[in-house]
Order: sequence, then structure tokens, then C-alpha cells
Amino acid sequence: MINEKVERLLNEQVTYELYSAQLYLSMSSWFASKDLDGFAKWYYAQAYEEKAHAMIIYNYIITAGGRALLEPIDAPPHEWESLSNLFDEHVKHEELVTSLIYNIVDVSRQEKDFKVDQFFQWFVEEQVEEEENANRIKGRYEALARDGKALYLMDQEMGTRVYAPPALLTTMEAGE
Ligand code: MG
Repeated sequence: MINEKVERLLNEQVTYELYSAQLYLSMSSWFASKDLDGFAKWYYAQAYEEKAHAMIIYNYIITAGGRALLEPIDAPPHEWESLSNLFDEHVKHEELVTSLIYNIVDVSRQEKDFKVDQFFQWFVEEQVEEEENANRIKGRYEALARDGKALYLMDQEMGTRVYAPPALLTTMEAGE
């Protein structure tokens, strides 16, 4: 059983997480076009992470006896004025996602769908991490990497990211 109103919000969230994947892949492509391959790698991994978020919610809807209804995904921007501008957009985007997650928790409580409330605590935690990542990248760039040499080092550091799917998704896909 899943509350109808909550189910609609979860479906919207699947679309929005897929949009996030589009956005970060587009950012990755922008970095690649500037030969900042480490940043490109980080944002490429982030696109997978967002896809994983969508798949977690998709799996949840199905398991809860709902129906996942897939919608079109908006085109992301292709250009940013500067690295600063891109990092600002990254932070703003994650703040928006956090507000959407909070809204799901809020509505699920109002509708007394406490399973969704409980399940979405994972996303509440995840958003702390996502906002932290976005703010750290922006902060480190503003503080250190505005000159060429430091940017080169930061690019190398960003390139060390290794993507691993969230354990929650792996468990869901194994049907556990
Ligand atoms: Mg996400």
C-alpha cells in the first residue's frame, strides 16, 4: 500500500533524480571540453549516483505496490559562464533537491504513510552528504584553485573519485 498523493510525489522525484543525472553528465561534458578530466570524472560518477537515487525510488514504488510512471526529462544547461558559476549551480541544485526530499517526508507524515517517511530518512542523510560535497568543491575552488597550478592539482584530486553504487540499491536489486 502506498498513499496516492505520496506515490505521485515519488514519481516526480524519480524524474527529478534522472534530471540530476542529466545535469551532472552535462557538467562532466563541459569539463571534458575544457580538458579538466578530473572534474569531468567526478561529475560523470555523480551522474551514476543520481541515476542510482532514481532507481532506489523506482524500486521502492514497485515494492510498495505502486506504479512507476516515467515522464520526460528536461534538457540540462550545456554552458556555464565560469567554474564558479557551475559550482554555484551545483550547490543550488542540491539545496533544491533537499527541499523536495523534505517535502516528501512532510507529506508522507501528513498522509500517515509512515513507511515512506522512514524509508526517506536515507535520502535525508544522503542530502547532507550531497550538499557537503557541493559546498566543499565550491569552497576549495574559491579558496585554493583559482590559479592554474592549484586548479591542476584539484583536478587531479577530483579524478581520484571511484564510483560504487549505494549499498541500499544493491540490496534492493538483489531482492533482499
Ligand atoms: Mg540525488
